[in-house]
Amino acid sequence: AIDIHNATKSYGDKTVLRGVDLTVAAGTVTVILGPSGSGKSTLLRAINHLEKLDEGFVALNGELIGVRVKGDRLKELPEKRILRQRARIGFVFQNFNLFPHLTILENVTEAPIAQGISAKRARDEARTLLARVGLADKEAAYPRQLSGGQQQRVAIARALALEPEVILFDEPTSALDPELVGEVLGVIRTLTGSGKTLIVVTHEIGFAREVADHVVFMDEGAIVEQGTPSDVLSHPRHRRTQDFLSKVL
Ligand code: ATP
Ligand code: MG
Repeated sequence: AIDIHNATKSYGDKTVLRGVDLTVAAGTVTVILGPSGSGKSTLLRAINHLEKLDEGFVALNGELIGVRVKGDRLKELPEKRILRQRARIGFVFQNFNLFPHLTILENVTEAPIAQGISAKRARDEARTLLARVGLADKEAAYPRQLSGGQQQRVAIARALALEPEVILFDEPTSALDPELVGEVLGVIRTLTGSGKTLIVVTHEIGFAREVADHVVFMDEGAIVEQGTPSDVLSHPRHRRTQDFLSKVL
């Protein structure tokens, strides 16, 4: 499980996370939604310690991510250990973030090879993953030669290459033309029920209804409401959730 405890973050005098507590059960799918600026990306980035919290902590299966307790304070882990922890938590970004100068195959093999896996084994596994996301024939292409939907599917294969326990998706389809959204959501759907823990920031309400075990609505740096898709999406109790849903539906 992932335990987020009292996640608190400010930029200057702007508070972005106001003591967020959230538990995500292993192997489940959690969808996070909320208006722009509500802190969704900051929370996701805090989970794998791309963002350092001012207060609070994140634990994966009881192990603190990015920090350890020293006395009664949290102390940053050495960068090497943080990188090793991050390998257990994949991240898929809104804008794909592929390496433009590397081929599709190299994009997928880069991290495993950096982790010490042999080039041959990394390539074999990357080919299996590319086939799984429907891109077996694109391994020699460069990112710019692919559509946005194809690039995002490569980004998902790349995240899977380190065999993470958790994958975080930050609005994985919001940079895509509408006709390409379905192919990416389809790939994400194939990851559900595989034992991986998925946390997806998205405004694709249909997707959330269909695949989420848990839905979280955030506003102004706090969780306003959470529960099953039926609870939060069909029977929201809070005015702010209702207002938000009436705008995105
Ligand atoms: P969106 O739906 O637009 O992606 P979000 O819910 O992901 O929004 P965040 O990106 O987490 O929101 O940002 C929350 C707030 O923190 C915003 O007001 C944003 O301007 C601010 N913010 C985020 N990163 C920084 C930064 N590096 N420096 C200063 N302010 C930041
Ligand atoms: Mg965001």
